[in-house]
Amino acid sequence: MTNEVERERHCPTCKSYEQHRHLTPEEDAWLRKTAGETYTYDWWRCKKTGCRTLRNHGVESRNVQLPEDFDD
Ligand SMILES: [Zn+2]
Repeated sequence: MTNEVERERHCPTCKSYEQHRHLTPEEDAWLRKTAGETYTYDWWRCKKTGCRTLRNHGVESRNVQLPEDFDD
């Protein structure tokens, strides 16, 4: 599926399986700038309230925490 908007993945912060969504343009820009990622399509954000974890789809150990101003 190419138009998938949500995906259940394990969140390393919640320590459980949670729905994840694609990054917003703001989150995408932050990730590129902060983590130096050049290919961000594979990055997903945990949708659980209060969780600001971004993770790489394929590699859970590649994850970062968004700063507080990205709170939902
Ligand atoms: Zn989470």
